[in-house]
Amino acid sequence: MAFKSLDFTLDKYQELCTVLAENYTVYTVSEYLSEKPEGKIAVLRHDVDRKIKNSLNMAKREHEMGIRSSYYFRYPSTFKPDLIRKIRDLGHEIGYHYEVLSKTNGDYPKAIALFQTELEEFRKICPVNTICMHGSPLSKYNNRDLWTRYDYHSYGISGEAFLSFEQTSDDFHYLTDTGRTWSGKRSLRDVIKTTSAHDDPVSLDSTDDLITWIRSTGGKKLYITAHPERWSANLGEWLIWSFLDFGMNVGKVFLQRNKA
Ligand SMILES: [Zn+2]
Repeated sequence: MAFKSLDFTLDKYQELCTVLAENYTVYTVSEYLSEKPEGKIAVLRHDVDRKIKNSLNMAKREHEMGIRSSYYFRYPSTFKPDLIRKIRDLGHEIGYHYEVLSKTNGDYPKAIALFQTELEEFRKICPVNTICMHGSPLSKYNNRDLWTRYDYHSYGISGEAFLSFEQTSDDFHYLTDTGRTWSGKRSLRDVIKTTSAHDDPVSLDSTDDLITWIRSTGGKKLYITAHPERWSANLGEWLIWSFLDFGMNVGKVFLQRNKA
């Protein structure tokens, strides 16, 4: 099998970007929230959980296609100022992927203080308007619960990548690559809670399925989350990560069964 035809490679990602650019106007999270555009639009978000170099490779491919998107970085694990600057210079939005409730074991006052400190570190590099919670499947704390007690607007933040979209009346199709599938069945916490009927438009297992769906019908508004570490630049990396994802998915099925 040729590497190019494998799924979850940067080449495949570029194919997806091509079909997105042909069929939609693509927005960053911040742009969408401030402009509330109409028509066929797609919001493109990236959570940089690991393997930070992949995010720059992805950002470059998008830039070649004339696409701008939002990249959320963790502190300190994926916080690399030089690389963040490079991604910003390609025109992308930089956001803060916070996990302060997990880090402080659910201590709200400590968590909000840490939130401010870490946000300041990002703002030494570039402006940050939006944030996105890191949904660690193994932590018992849900980081977005921070906003049941505090208001992110007080910290100069205009939107949260989950909460702000749950509050909008716009009818989005939410698509995420969690578990290296687009079918949305592998995520425990990384889910936008929606009342719309579009959680799983059709069976979109592979990126080719997604591309075909976008070309044929698509949805009017798409919200796509792609984790850069899942999109490999070479075959060795692809094999290693496929193996690890398989292990993670087995683990999540175990957790889901034991929850029920
Ligand atoms: Zn994350």
